[in-house]
Amino acid sequence: MTVRYRQPMSSELTIELAPSSSPRSAEDRARLLADPGFGQVFTDHMVSISYAADRGWYDAQLTAYAPITLEPATSVLHYGQAIFEGLKAYHQAGGGVALFRPEMNAARFQRSARRLAMAELPTELFLDSVRALVRADRDWVPTRPGESLYLRPLQFAVDPFLGVRPALAYRYLLFGSPAGNYFPGGVRPVSVWLSTEYVRAAPGGTGEAKCAGNYAASLVAQAQAADQGCDQVVWLDAIEHRFVEEMGGMNLYFVMADGRLLTPALTGTLLPGVTRDSILTLGRDLGMDTVEGRISTDEWQRGCEDGTIAEVFACGTAAVVTPVGQVKHAGGGFTVADGAPGAVTMKLRDALLGIQQGTAPDPHGWMVPVD
Ligand SMILES: *Cc1c(COP(=O)(O)O)cnc(C)c1O
Repeated sequence: MTVRYRQPMSSELTIELAPSSSPRSAEDRARLLADPGFGQVFTDHMVSISYAADRGWYDAQLTAYAPITLEPATSVLHYGQAIFEGLKAYHQAGGGVALFRPEMNAARFQRSARRLAMAELPTELFLDSVRALVRADRDWVPTRPGESLYLRPLQFAVDPFLGVRPALAYRYLLFGSPAGNYFPGGVRPVSVWLSTEYVRAAPGGTGEAKCAGNYAASLVAQAQAADQGCDQVVWLDAIEHRFVEEMGGMNLYFVMADGRLLTPALTGTLLPGVTRDSILTLGRDLGMDTVEGRISTDEWQRGCEDGTIAEVFACGTAAVVTPVGQVKHAGGGFTVADGAPGAVTMKLRDALLGIQQGTAPDPHGWMVPVD
């Protein structure tokens, strides 16, 4: 039997706590946390919240992590109203657990919902769900440097209806997955393939939304990059296939030899990363001239050949900051500087990880402790 009890929460809807009656033992957990990798191990609990057009958000529960059942007619399976988020809870050097800028994820989740004509989850409910899960699964937050508890909120349409229109019912789920150090053997630069055949996002499309369909559409290009011997695909603009947008599921940065730090501007076809936003601030903190601009693939190649581009890196929640070493395209390829991780890249990476892990001061108030 599960014990149900209420706990005051800051949002209007209370999350009912019905903890797992069979959480894994400390031994099992220790075995799973020894080498969690990414996205393969799941914690003991999840949060679920339902929405109906005539009721609003209701039935918020924290329960055991478990399968869900859906009718074959469930509309998300046909028309793809599905959005998600990714954020992390970090073990703090001084003890405790803290989230990195979770209100940014809550706001983006709402923007994604709006773009897909879905109901928006209130910010406080999003934050409460994250706090409730992290409290319940606190022992699943890994403690070694570079490790974290990755949190995955998602929302999808659950109407059993085949007509094409925005659904009237949605389900929100949140679960956690301990994540190992992305670079256990030390930071390794990635190789990238410039995709001129496929595009990720077009003006007026869903590029700004963190929706499932964007990822479905990206897989064939990622497979093509792998066929070319590259780790990741770089997305170019949809019109001219010339201007650099993103790398896989990460934003890109160019460190210029003159000290400028350039990232492609948010034109509506890029995903506005929380990490991207944080690096703009950290770059300014380090005295760099930060620019949200535009760079073509020709400028990228020329800049690497004449030395005006000193470093290139990608950034995102999962891998934090990842140097780009090699670039390949249909007409050849080139190396960024000497192909090794650059000094500015590593400085920004260390600055961000220091704040996230509580080993450095947090001057911008980005960390949100979970008590
Ligand atoms: C999630 C995502 C990013 C990175 O966003 P963060 O908030 O920094 O994790 C970048 N590009 C795409 C396409 C994404 O889906």
